[in-house]
Amino acid sequence: MSPPSTLLLTGGAGFIGSHACVELLDHGYELIVVDNYSNSTPHVFARVERIAGRFVGAVYELDIRDRRALSAVFDRHSVDAVVHFAAHKAVSASTRMPIEYYDTNIGGTTSLLRAMHEHGVHQLVFSSTASVYGDAGHGPLNEATPARPANPYAASKWLCEQILADACHRHPEFTVLALRYFNPVGAHPSGLLGEDPSGTPDNLMPCLAQVAIGRRHRLRVFGNDYATPDGTAIRDYIHVMDAVDAHRVALDHLADSPGMHTYNLGLGKGRSVLEVVSAFSAASGAPVPYDIAPRRPGDVPEQVADASAVERAWGWRPTRGLADMCVDAWRFQQLNPHGYAGTARRADG
Ligand code: NAD
Repeated sequence: MSPPSTLLLTGGAGFIGSHACVELLDHGYELIVVDNYSNSTPHVFARVERIAGRFVGAVYELDIRDRRALSAVFDRHSVDAVVHFAAHKAVSASTRMPIEYYDTNIGGTTSLLRAMHEHGVHQLVFSSTASVYGDAGHGPLNEATPARPANPYAASKWLCEQILADACHRHPEFTVLALRYFNPVGAHPSGLLGEDPSGTPDNLMPCLAQVAIGRRHRLRVFGNDYATPDGTAIRDYIHVMDAVDAHRVALDHLADSPGMHTYNLGLGKGRSVLEVVSAFSAASGAPVPYDIAPRRPGDVPEQVADASAVERAWGWRPTRGLADMCVDAWRFQQLNPHGYAGTARRADG
C-alpha cells in the first residue's frame, strides 16, 4: 500500500493540530481540517500558511459528533488517512464535567470511526495520552504497563483506545497508531504558533508563560507533599515540534502491519514542577513567582515514559530538551502576549 497523501485532521486548529498542519504541509501532504473551535480559533490558519508558504487546504467548521456533517466531508474528499486530535483535554475540567468529556471524546471518536469505515478509510493516527497510566507508581512506564486512569479525561482516552482496538479486531482492514503523549509543550520556533488555551490554562507551561508575561500574578504549584525528591509532581515533557514530527513518521509506518499499535511519546526523563519553573525562569531571564497550593483532584505524583518502543519500531526519538521547550514557549508568549487574539483571518477564511 502506498503511503497516504491526503489527510483529514480533526482538531487541526488546536495546539498540537496547528503545529502538525505546518509539519505535514512542509512534507507535501494535502490536508482537510475539521474543527469546531471549542478550544481554538480559525485565525491560526493564517499563521500556519505564513510559515508553510502554502494554503492549509479545505477547512470545515464542524463538530465531529455531527455524523451527517462529517460524512459530507468524506463524501467530498478522497481521504487516505486520518489524524485524530479533536478532544477535550483538561484533567481538572473533566472532573467537573465528566459527561461533556465522555460525550466529546468518545462520541467524537465513534462518529469518526463510523464515517471512516463507511467511506473505506481505515488508517488512523490517534492522540492518546500518558494519563491513561494514572498512578502507576515510580519508574518508567512502558506501553504494557496496566492502565489506571485517574480522572474522566484519562478514562475517556483509555475507552477510546479500547474502542479502536475492538474496531481493529472486528475489521482487520483498520490500522491504528495510538500515540500516548507525555506533556507536549513548547512552540514553533518562529514564535507564530504556540499554546493559547481559552480561559485559565490547566497545564504548567502556559501558566508559567502567562505569569512571566504579567497576565497572571503568580503560578500555583499544586502539591509539594508528593513522595518525590522536592515534593512536587514529576512529569515527562516532549517538545510539540518533536511530537508532530513523530506523527509525520507514524504516517510512513501505517502500512507496516494492520491492527492497533500503541507508542509512548516522551523524552524518558522526569522533571518536577519546580525543575520546570527553574528552567522557564532561566529561559525568560527572571524568576517566576509561585505559591504552593493543595493537590488537584485527578493528579498523580509521577509519570515518566519508557520511550524505547517507538525508537525500536521506527528508529525515531525526540531531539529537543527542556531548555528548548521553555525558550520556544517563552518566545511565543512574548510575541503574542494575548495569544491569538487580534490575529487576522486567512484570506478565504
Ligand atoms: P487543543 O484543545 O488545543 O486542540 C483540540 C482541538 O480539537 C481544538 O482545536 C478544539 O477546538 C477541537 N475540538 C474539540 N472538540 C471538538 C469536536 N467535538 N469537534 C471538532 N473539533 C473539536 O488540544 P491539544 O493540546 O492540541 O491536544 C490535541 C490532542 O492531543 C487531544 O486529543 C488531547 O487529548 C491529546 N493530548 C494532549 C496533551 C497536551 O498536553 N496538550 C497531552 C496528551 C494528549
